[in-house]
Amino acid sequence: MKDKQYLLIPGPTPVPPTVFAAMSRPMFGHRSDDFAKMHKGIVEKMQKVFQTKNEVFVLTSSGTGAMEAAVSNVIKPGDKVLTLNGGKFGERWTKMAAKYGAVVDEYKYRWGSAADLKVIEEKLNSEPDYVAVFATHNETSTAVTNDIAGMGALVAKHKALLIVDTVSSLGAIEFKTDEWNVDIAATGSQKALMLPPGLGAITVSEKAWKVVEENKTPKFYFDLNACKKNIAKWNTPYTPNVTLFVGLDAALDMIMEEGLENVYARHTLLANGVRAAAKALGLELLADEGCRSDAVTAVLSPEGISAEDIRKVLKNDYQITFAGGQDDLKGKIFRIAHMGFADKMDMIIAIGALEMALAKVGYPVQLGQGVKALQEVFLGRN
Ligand SMILES: *Cc1c(COP(=O)(O)O)cnc(C)c1O
Repeated sequence: MKDKQYLLIPGPTPVPPTVFAAMSRPMFGHRSDDFAKMHKGIVEKMQKVFQTKNEVFVLTSSGTGAMEAAVSNVIKPGDKVLTLNGGKFGERWTKMAAKYGAVVDEYKYRWGSAADLKVIEEKLNSEPDYVAVFATHNETSTAVTNDIAGMGALVAKHKALLIVDTVSSLGAIEFKTDEWNVDIAATGSQKALMLPPGLGAITVSEKAWKVVEENKTPKFYFDLNACKKNIAKWNTPYTPNVTLFVGLDAALDMIMEEGLENVYARHTLLANGVRAAAKALGLELLADEGCRSDAVTAVLSPEGISAEDIRKVLKNDYQITFAGGQDDLKGKIFRIAHMGFADKMDMIIAIGALEMALAKVGYPVQLGQGVKALQEVFLGRN
């Protein structure tokens, strides 16, 4: 039964049948009225998800392309920037900004913790020349969600732009672009937006446009000025992935139909369930209390057992894929995604299989304890 696969990694995530069905639509031209009408609808719906009045540009690239669009349109060689690195994706901002010639001040915070607002405030006060602060809303590698509202309140008092990676949070965890003073937010399609990989999206505030318009750093494909010019007629500068746009339109309709509040509540419920299950099984979480992600949970492997062995049993015996840890965390954690097209019964399957895998690798598990904890959360008894 190799066809029966359960994908519980934080991207790519499962794609709803409705979205795949929509994407079987015959090809049509990206300069057509049909496309323009669909593009307009997509942007309006994306503005709702981003909670912004700013332009939203959908890019044919993965999430990293949207991140690079932010960097290449803002950074000039020699610009001072602050990057917040508490995991793989924060580190990506650091590397990218450095590539574009920025003088990078990197604030490293412990993997599993959230960035400390006091440190950010001190840095902003001691360095008035920062052009941008680069943050990660949901650090997927550590399953930590950062306080972007808090950061926005600090950065807004300075000339620096706040640029945020929302790749694994948008559509899972509430994000308020305008209210939180976020100047640029970048996201990707294959996480909570329930699409295959291949699209990115980016929002640009008025404050950011002033910087972008004056920036002459070489760039072509990701030139936001070209995007802006084209979107006036609901066009894109180059051929977009028309099929993924169709899919995005359908996925956004699903999100709107469920209602954003309900979407976030579903993610919170699943996260609460998985955390309760881990606790009931005697397992510890990587992320500190208070900053744990509602989109993905990172569980520490029990003493003396490699997370990779647990993942192997899950994959080989039950066709279940959890993500592992990256860099220093490899073998130490496994990550269970509960983002996008994820529901209660997916978690029952995941935790039920986890219990069996733990038993097989020699962990003294009491079968049913994790599933029971989940069921109690789902029944509202806990
Ligand atoms: C997945 C992810 C990315 C990278 O996105 P790609 O689509 O792989 O380019 C960036 N940031 C975060 C937080 C992610 O989870």
